[in-house]
Amino acid sequence: MTESTFDALGVAEPILRALKAEDYVTPTPIQLQAIPTLLDGRDMLGIAQTGTGKTAAFTVPILQRLSVGHEAPRSREVKGLILAPTRELAIQISESVSTYGQFLGIRHTVIVGGVNQNPQVKALSKGVDVLIATPGRLLDLANQGHVVLDNTQTLVLDEADRMLDMGFIHDIRKIISKLPEERQSLLFSATMPPEIAKLAGKILKDPARVEITPKVVTVDRILQQVFFAEGPEKKDLLVRIMDDPSVEKVIIFTRTKHRANRVAQILDRAGHPALAIHGNKSQNARQKALGAFKDGSIHALVATDIAARGIDVDEVTHVINFELPNEPESYVHRIGRTARAGADGVALSLCDATEVPYLNDIEKLIKKQLEVVYGEKPAAQKKPARNSRRPNPRRPQAKSGKGPSKPAKGKTQGHRPNGDKGKSNNRPNKSNQKRRRRPKRAA
Ligand code: AMP
Repeated sequence: MTESTFDALGVAEPILRALKAEDYVTPTPIQLQAIPTLLDGRDMLGIAQTGTGKTAAFTVPILQRLSVGHEAPRSREVKGLILAPTRELAIQISESVSTYGQFLGIRHTVIVGGVNQNPQVKALSKGVDVLIATPGRLLDLANQGHVVLDNTQTLVLDEADRMLDMGFIHDIRKIISKLPEERQSLLFSATMPPEIAKLAGKILKDPARVEITPKVVTVDRILQQVFFAEGPEKKDLLVRIMDDPSVEKVIIFTRTKHRANRVAQILDRAGHPALAIHGNKSQNARQKALGAFKDGSIHALVATDIAARGIDVDEVTHVINFELPNEPESYVHRIGRTARAGADGVALSLCDATEVPYLNDIEKLIKKQLEVVYGEKPAAQKKPARNSRRPNPRRPQAKSGKGPSKPAKGKTQGHRPNGDKGKSNNRPNKSNQKRRRRPKRAA
């Protein structure tokens, strides 16, 4: 590849200035492939996940094309439309549009559900160059006549697989039916299930295909360990892991919203201020939690998979899977929250006997075994070993005098959850990270 600067890719001066202000020196692989092709006006099928630089890969060329011979949009008109599955991702993309387009004089807005529609209706009434939206609210406003899509020149579907998971596929089809036939269309997805391939076949015309699979790279940079523990023992372990001073900024994942609330409560009580973020939380509560996590006023965020999708917070030192995801791809997405922007990271998974099949699927996908640092792998529940002397996963493990909270002997090569103040080797590479002070718990 000879082109290795944004300038060489054909990016215009006002955007180059904005990228420079962000310290983007070298385009990422997806940017190298996507930017010139999209500037040429081609459709694109992108197989990539967050963390690859894909937002800039599609935002920069869209902004540039819209800025050439720019005419102010008419009332309720949308020139470029970016659809995202979650509010968080939509807001994040909108922030990227603000950043990259800051010297272009382009108007954009973001519309998401869960908040009052009036300010959104007002913003749309003037027309926008770029609209970033979640599908449900957009369709709602379009049906009310607050937005007109028949002059939209560009469509981006970001994280299409997640949109499918979240049941947005019908809304998306309805939105697409309102767009003009003649347009540039882009579809990005981390995975390509048949339904997404079908959708891509319908909406894209002769698309350029870019595929960036950072999985191996990402996974390789992250220290991945597993703790085998049942029921209440998981909570003890979690608190003890959190007591380790190297755990500076952590996202803890659960499978359910209820469990996310519970874990945040447990941490709070143990002196680790934490907030939960999930689909039942109001938009304001989610933004507040994310803001507090970003600015360091809390160092633990508890999240479900969907709420966490697309969260881009720098310097996350640890990801803890309090519960393993039932889709192995989600494990890769989860742990990708750490080890961003060239930093190393640590991913710790707490696994009980019911989750062993999930663990097996994960290890198959990432083609490596997680390092066991605590407990022993129980037999998967489906096929219990005959005459097995393994513990009953439904009951807490028999306590060997000192209780469950002591890690198994000889198994503490990696993380030391028992508050060891010595040098812990689970610490990510700090060479380019600022050390943050742990916030004091409010009295
Ligand atoms: P994304 O995959 O779009 O979520 O981007 C992941 C992270 O990489 C974001 O924090 C971006 O700000 C950052 N980023 C994107 N492109 C570049 C680049 N060329 N150089 C440095 N950082 C970048």
